[in-house]
Amino acid sequence: MKKEAFSQQSCAPIFILYLAMLFLLSACHTDEVIEEHAFLMGTMVSVTVAESEKDSQVRLAIKASMQEIQRVEALFSTHLDNSVQAFNQSHVGVWQDLDPEVSVLLAQAVRIMAQSQQAFHPMLGQLKQLWAFQSESKQVPPEASIQILVQAIKKATLEQKGTQWRRSHAALRLDFGAIAKGYAIDRAIKVLRQQGIGNAIVNAGGDIRLIGQRFGRAWRIGIKHPRQANQILGWMALKGDVSLVTSGDYERFFIVGDKRYHHILDARTGYPATKSQSVTVIAKNATLADAWSTALFVLGSNSQGLVTAPTDLDYLIVDRQGKKSMSLGMQKLFHSQ
Ligand code: ADP
Ligand code: MG
Repeated sequence: MKKEAFSQQSCAPIFILYLAMLFLLSACHTDEVIEEHAFLMGTMVSVTVAESEKDSQVRLAIKASMQEIQRVEALFSTHLDNSVQAFNQSHVGVWQDLDPEVSVLLAQAVRIMAQSQQAFHPMLGQLKQLWAFQSESKQVPPEASIQILVQAIKKATLEQKGTQWRRSHAALRLDFGAIAKGYAIDRAIKVLRQQGIGNAIVNAGGDIRLIGQRFGRAWRIGIKHPRQANQILGWMALKGDVSLVTSGDYERFFIVGDKRYHHILDARTGYPATKSQSVTVIAKNATLADAWSTALFVLGSNSQGLVTAPTDLDYLIVDRQGKKSMSLGMQKLFHSQ
């Protein structure tokens, strides 16, 4: 009897502790991410936040980050009334003022162009227009038109004087399609951080920057299979601050005969690049990851699976035969499906 009372007494704190643990566990289970979507920069953008904060604060932060992406889109789009469009319509040889932010990103793009032996080329606007992947035409342009442009682009020069730029040939037209999305993602992350968010993903059509964690666990990111629709090639568990961008030949393309013509162009040939099916790059920010995923897509890997790229990048290249090659860092992160 006495013993029973004693054991009841000693059990009470344990029982309370057990209840507290149950409560904690259930709190973990009810932790849900807040996510919003919007169609921006020609793709579906989603911002996902994993904070146990008040919903209304998180929603405001997400809204601000989406607005930032919209602002970037307005600055860099080639079909809106902005300084990029004014440059593309300007007279050849005349200095033209670009928006300061556009000028800074263009200077970075020009550096990456040089580092990638022109594989990344931010002035293929006219070549892109010739191929017209956005239109319904789905035709290979005349060989002569492609060659005239390629030769002109090869010889043409672009010069900078502060925020002013001039081109030597009308064939050079700015196109930020392979870098602006990454830049917008970086800006969106900056805005989220300014609003006190430390755990989030900004995903623009598979181009991603993630920060922090998903309620104590890593974010799980799938990489699309370039040939099997709705299948993944593999996945990664990532946390901290990681930018991961994929360029593929499967998003915008048409097929004529047995050839696939897609939207990543090789400035040296004037044709869609042929070495890769998809390239995923991890870099210190999404701007670099975006530009280099396009550059490495064009460059492809050599027979040893190696690429010419800055050493602080990690990559996964699926070559035209579907063979994967990865940097050492990527091998540690990537899990095959
Ligand atoms: P996505 O836009 O599907 O994410 P990319 O980041 O690779 O893919 O960018 C492709 C876009 O970049 C094209 O639609 C075009 O606007 C532009 N572009 C095409 N080829 C190149 C290239 N070699 N270098 C830089 N930009 C390119
Ligand atoms: Mg890109």
